[in-house]
Amino acid sequence: MAFDWFWKAMGTSPHKNQKKSMAVVAQAGADRYREATEEELRKAAAQSVVRQQFEDGSLIREGKVLDESKLLGVVREVARRTLGLSPFDVQMQGTLRLLAGDVVEMGTGEGKTLAGAMAAVGYALQGKRVHVITVNSYLATRDDEWMGPMFDFFGISHGAISEELTSDERRDIYSRDVIFGAINELGFDVLRDQLITKRADQVRSEADVAVIDEADSVMVDEALVPLVLAGSEPGNAPLGHITELVKSMVEQQHFLISEDQRNVFLTDAGAAFAERKLGIESLYGTADEGRSGSAAEQSRSEKKDDAGESEVASEKEDTETEEDQAGSGDLLVQINVALHAEHLLQRDVHYIVRDGKVLLIDGSRGRVADLQRWPDGLQSAVEAKEGLQVTDGGRILDQLTIQALIGMYPEVCGMTGTAMAAGDQLRQFYDLKVSVIQPNVPVQRFDEQDAVFASIEDRNEAVVKHIVEIQKTGQPQLVGTQDVAESEYIARELKKVGVECAVLNAKNHEAEAGVISEAGRPRRVTVSTQMAGRGTDIKLGGTEEDERDAVVEAGGLHVVGVGRFRSQRLDNQLRGRAGRQGDPGSSVFFVSIEDDVVAVGGAGEELQAQPDDEGRLTQKKVLNFVDHCQRVTEGQMLDIHATTWKYNKLIKDQRDIINGRRDDLLDTSTAWDDLSYHNVDKANELKAAGIPEETLEQAAREIMLFHLDYEWSEHLAYLDDIRESIHLRAIARESPIDEFHRMSIAAFGDLADRAVRKARETFDDARITADGVDLGELGLHKPSATWTYMVNDNPLNSGGGSAMGSIAQLFR
Ligand code: ADP
Repeated sequence: MAFDWFWKAMGTSPHKNQKKSMAVVAQAGADRYREATEEELRKAAAQSVVRQQFEDGSLIREGKVLDESKLLGVVREVARRTLGLSPFDVQMQGTLRLLAGDVVEMGTGEGKTLAGAMAAVGYALQGKRVHVITVNSYLATRDDEWMGPMFDFFGISHGAISEELTSDERRDIYSRDVIFGAINELGFDVLRDQLITKRADQVRSEADVAVIDEADSVMVDEALVPLVLAGSEPGNAPLGHITELVKSMVEQQHFLISEDQRNVFLTDAGAAFAERKLGIESLYGTADEGRSGSAAEQSRSEKKDDAGESEVASEKEDTETEEDQAGSGDLLVQINVALHAEHLLQRDVHYIVRDGKVLLIDGSRGRVADLQRWPDGLQSAVEAKEGLQVTDGGRILDQLTIQALIGMYPEVCGMTGTAMAAGDQLRQFYDLKVSVIQPNVPVQRFDEQDAVFASIEDRNEAVVKHIVEIQKTGQPQLVGTQDVAESEYIARELKKVGVECAVLNAKNHEAEAGVISEAGRPRRVTVSTQMAGRGTDIKLGGTEEDERDAVVEAGGLHVVGVGRFRSQRLDNQLRGRAGRQGDPGSSVFFVSIEDDVVAVGGAGEELQAQPDDEGRLTQKKVLNFVDHCQRVTEGQMLDIHATTWKYNKLIKDQRDIINGRRDDLLDTSTAWDDLSYHNVDKANELKAAGIPEETLEQAAREIMLFHLDYEWSEHLAYLDDIRESIHLRAIARESPIDEFHRMSIAAFGDLADRAVRKARETFDDARITADGVDLGELGLHKPSATWTYMVNDNPLNSGGGSAMGSIAQLFR
């Protein structure tokens, strides 16, 4: 094969794997178990695997598949009997590669749900607990119900995690064999479990395997999105007068916006202007000292501690600045946040306003992300910009990136329509290989060459004309745009020329599933932002396929891409909606050289080409240029991912250390041992008062854990500060990420000691009774409410994905 070197470089050879798995599947035979009794099927299933075994908590026998073709043959027959679906050979191949721990590429409509569920059966039979990870809870519940009968047959317990469940219900479901859940829900439970003070309160049970649906969206596009657990506390939002100040600033003179529209910088003149308006001496003064070393860290952690008997002078000073509401360091952050909100975030592109609230648009799915907020200051700044009631901020208690969450599973596999193009990232960040599974029926889609235009206006005009023309043929059309504003624009323009269309976007997601399932009817036009994770396929002629013949006759579903996405993989996700299971279909992309991908990817490069009367550029070199720009953008994203990964890795390593400490405190009497040794008199008094040992141990545990958790959340806030300060100083440094490492390691160094020291002080002061300890009495309040959200920290990248990208870019 001409591309063998390529596959080798990717760490995989699809041809080799394919041949092998085809042989196994052939052996599994469609009829091999057709006559078998239920008893025989269960017995054969048990014989085909080795169950993993533990003794005293340590693994003494590993689970594995002994006889692949036997296992597959049984599962195929059981799927047929219980689900009424006879798995295709290609689905069986998919299952096999999933059991080998690969990410499999299977097209839209090839039946990935069934292939994944069969793999879950294979893993569960080995005695492993499996999480089948979906992109949203709706799909988790749907798939659990749909695939349930197959699990029931084998006596494999299963269930789905969704938002509305109580902790007790969740705990029960987590203890089962196969658990379906949305990635963010699973992550939030990890975060909440990291706050428990009694082992019995833990909700999750450890899982052995993750089977990830839409693996590239989850593991690549959303890998760096942090899931956040926050507790209520007034935020550090820009005050009203800061918003006013920023509104009066002038671009170029007071601030600059970077070419890629990701960053905004205050100029010297801007800083002077702000200082004058606010009547302060310097925006930078204390910020520099306050943020550059462990002194700041100290003051941060001491500032809420009013016990402070022997604070040194500098710490006192800091506390005072804090009190007069706006330390200058904070002002600088607030101004930057307000500038960011004012100039880089656009209504209807990055967020919408509904019911007096700012709702984020999840860039990669083009719909409202209910659980997402920007980091507190930014969210409030946007609220202020829109003249809305500014909500209270919160205190970040803990956070976890999706990448780190995936890293917690000993075994990972997954499926997606577009894995190959994510091969680099999957290998580099997860050490996963990709297996390409051929389609069940060869793809018949016709992909037209891109139509490239000189300007966005010309492009849009051509898109509308094109849709009108195609509609005459009777083909249904799916129009994919880059963002919600663009969807609405296209819809308006279509309406003007008499074309009705359904718009799938953040504003009407309730109706979405229904709209999609009917999008394949003749002449239908459906406009949508990216389709990844929408999770329903478009059947020709409607859900019941009653108008199928007419649509097939017309040429099947036609996909129109408005602008190329920032990676070819995303383009293909959209294209892949047409031509499922060998259906006829076609696709074309309309591009302009003013599009983001071209502008960012081709920055600084001159393109000499003459447009025709309709603004179209037909030269071959133009097409090449667009491809080139997209490859540059892909490269940039990979770099950002790699750099941000380094940054997150450090936090993860530190978190692991804290978790180890937490486990020790939860499961042993370490806390009581330490505190009673520290204050022997008090310990004896308490014992003499007849308080049961158990109560004392639990009180000590709660004291220790309170301070450990508090210090950790302070540490996270400090890390944010360093990131911000490195970011704000426009990066004159050689290697900001090294600097970040140095500072964060230094600050982490004495975290545990400080937590213990404070716990001892608390123990000295605390009133402990037979009811335990009331930390609230001492002003040590646990957050009154906690909530979870996903941070879309890189809102400037309308393609979604890489959170913290804007910061990471500066790290490069
Ligand atoms: P994907 O996620 O790969 O796009 P789904 O898992 O949603 O696909 O399945 C798409 C459709 O194909 C579903 O309607 C499902 O019922 C159907 N399907 C899957 N496997 C089979 C099969 N072996 N035989 C018949 N229909 C199948």
